[in-house]
Amino acid sequence: MFGVLALGIVLVLSVDQFYGHSSLAFAAAIVMLVVANAPMLRFNCPRCGKNAFFRGIFVVPWPNRICTRCGADLDRVIPKNAGG
Ligand SMILES: [Zn+2]
Repeated sequence: MFGVLALGIVLVLSVDQFYGHSSLAFAAAIVMLVVANAPMLRFNCPRCGKNAFFRGIFVVPWPNRICTRCGADLDRVIPKNAGG
């Protein structure tokens, strides 16, 4: 997630360098970030449906191994390469 965020920032800065200030590039980067994060937000606990990336009110860039709500083992349902 942080890598994607950095990539988005680099994209905006590089386009900014070449084409001047462009809100279009900024919009494209935002869209890219949303698209990149969409699969992440689908990692829900199979038992209670709680998102694996939420810890209380905080969103973390790596999934919980154990569901914080019901204690289910999420290690089996979430790909190992999903986190950072
Ligand atoms: Zn759960």
